[in-house]
Amino acid sequence: MRRKLVVANRKMNGSLSSNKAFLEGLLAGTHDYPNADYSVCMPHPYLFQAEAMLKGSPITWGGQNMSRYESGAYTGSVSPGMIKEFGCEYVIIGHSERRQRGHDTDHSIGERFEVATKVGLKPIFCMGETLEEYEEGITDVVTIRQLNAVIAEIGVKGLANGVLAYEPVWAIGTGKAASPEHAQNILSFLRGHIELLDADIAESIRILYGGSVKADNAAKLFSMPDIDGGLVGGASLNTDEFVAICQAAS
Ligand code: 13P
Repeated sequence: MRRKLVVANRKMNGSLSSNKAFLEGLLAGTHDYPNADYSVCMPHPYLFQAEAMLKGSPITWGGQNMSRYESGAYTGSVSPGMIKEFGCEYVIIGHSERRQRGHDTDHSIGERFEVATKVGLKPIFCMGETLEEYEEGITDVVTIRQLNAVIAEIGVKGLANGVLAYEPVWAIGTGKAASPEHAQNILSFLRGHIELLDADIAESIRILYGGSVKADNAAKLFSMPDIDGGLVGGASLNTDEFVAICQAAS
């Protein structure tokens, strides 16, 4: 039985004071819901704050992206080792906002998966189709291409070191979440694809759904057999709403 995981992707939001209020609220609010895992992915400058406030608690923290290089002349970039040094459990890779605006490619995301696991970080690897691809009916083709690019880099067994997330681009920040049935279909399809390669990995790997997860749709989404939790953007900016989503997973 896979344990549910709810991850806040705070994106480029927050400040020292608003983060403090959020993390305090999260620690207090999730105290009574020990049956799922919770994590908060913060902008890099705030990782020290997450570490200071969450260390020793059941809540983990992570980064939102990282370089695929270990060190060197990459002005403005942050290495996997630096993120790990701040106690991070996770790092998000392959988010559509990075694929579209940061020019991350299937191949470079595969490389990131590998270097993240080398330093002991667990990648949260995002896949998902655009609205155009959804309307064309090629969600399966797109997500399998994205998944296979990572498997080509690390092998199917390497997936065990990370978490997968299906985030349809058309559902991100739009308030139009995928229906639980659509999300379930895609997650079951992705798990089935992994199963053909390695049944144990398919059974144990956590696959999250992301895209307009809110307090009022979380319970229904999380009740689907292949949805192992959520990657939450906008709703993680409101402490009460995020805690309600955590409660729905517990
Ligand atoms: P929203 O929850 O704001 O749709 O964002 C989802 C997301 O991009 C999480 O990574």
